[in-house]
Amino acid sequence: MLDRALDDGLFDTLMVCFSFLEPLAREKIIPKATEKNVGVIAMKPFSGGVIENARLALKFVLSQPGILIIPGVEDKDLFDENWNVFQDGNSLTQAEEQEIAEIQKRAEKVFCRRCDYCQPCAERIPIQMVLGIRSMVKRMGKGVLQKGPHSGAIDKARNCTECGLCVTRCPYELPIPDLIRENLRWIDEQTLST
Ligand code: SF4
Ligand code: SF4
Repeated sequence: MLDRALDDGLFDTLMVCFSFLEPLAREKIIPKATEKNVGVIAMKPFSGGVIENARLALKFVLSQPGILIIPGVEDKDLFDENWNVFQDGNSLTQAEEQEIAEIQKRAEKVFCRRCDYCQPCAERIPIQMVLGIRSMVKRMGKGVLQKGPHSGAIDKARNCTECGLCVTRCPYELPIPDLIRENLRWIDEQTLST
């Protein structure tokens, strides 16, 4: 869609997900936008809180020239932390590149890109919400497990029949039923420890 938007020539800027877990924009969209003098606003540099090493995540996106990064923050102290990373310089060391490659490898078969291509699920399980529950708890606290949309999603996830249909649709071949089961086990542990 972004590729078409660039062809149409109707937009001065575009906004795209960009992080070392979602780096695809670097291959086509960013170079094409640069060529057409369209501004690129890069969102989700921490992949929705999934990337634990925030400093490394920011350095990766800052190392890409010609784009504007809009990192989300939940606490005003994080503005200072982000600013410090920005001031420290934006080129990645060899060790950092190696670390990124290792994280990418570990995430390959567990990181949900939130595309929803796996839907619909016959049990109406909001799969991406269930797969992203750990980062949501990290950002918002354990309260999300007790009430609100995530709590409802967890209840539905318990009805997973492991039919496997979602797996056939996921472009990243994630083992969705296994990941749901693991997350439910993790959620139960969190609930017991409160
Ligand atoms: S395996 Fe579970 S989540 Fe996937 S489509 Fe079947 S019921 Fe839904
Ligand atoms: S298709 Fe795969 S990556 Fe996309 S939301 Fe579903 S599980 Fe996540």
